[in-house]
Amino acid sequence: MRASFAARIKNGYEHAAKDCLTCETKGACCLDAHFVNVRVSRLEAAAMRDAVGELPLDLRKRVAERTVVAIERYGLRSAEDADAATYACPLFEPGIGCLVHSTAKPLPCIAHACYERQEDLPPDEILDSAELAVANLNWRVYGKATAQLSIPLAVEGVG
Ligand code: SF4
Ligand code: SF4
Repeated sequence: MRASFAARIKNGYEHAAKDCLTCETKGACCLDAHFVNVRVSRLEAAAMRDAVGELPLDLRKRVAERTVVAIERYGLRSAEDADAATYACPLFEPGIGCLVHSTAKPLPCIAHACYERQEDLPPDEILDSAELAVANLNWRVYGKATAQLSIPLAVEGVG
């Protein structure tokens, strides 16, 4: 599902977006604590944990350190903020980029790019539809709806 969604975004929309390879503020989109509000299903969290678990030890340690900081700093465990809080993503590694880019990148991250013109953005319905398909799969795997998790809570303790 993730690969199919990524292909749809790449083939249909990304040609109109700024090239991340030439970005002068690489990672701003992942580290902006006022912007990142990605939440993932339990199933996606499991994929992320597997992906992080396979990283080299030094990277896992850095993810673990950033994760602890993010949960505390942005109040991600508090029930009040659980669904709304924004945060800097611990999976962005300077010099590398998204550490789960090709393994477990969440759908909103796949859909995100910097577009000059509003009309070039992928329609919200495409993301909504892909998220619904993942939610249905999540339900089939776990037998119930499960809470959506911020990325730091999704990968907590893996390092
Ligand atoms: S999405 Fe935008 S801010 Fe993020 S790396 Fe690409 S061009 Fe830069
Ligand atoms: S999962 Fe990857 S693309 Fe998404 S915010 Fe984190 S580092 Fe950025």
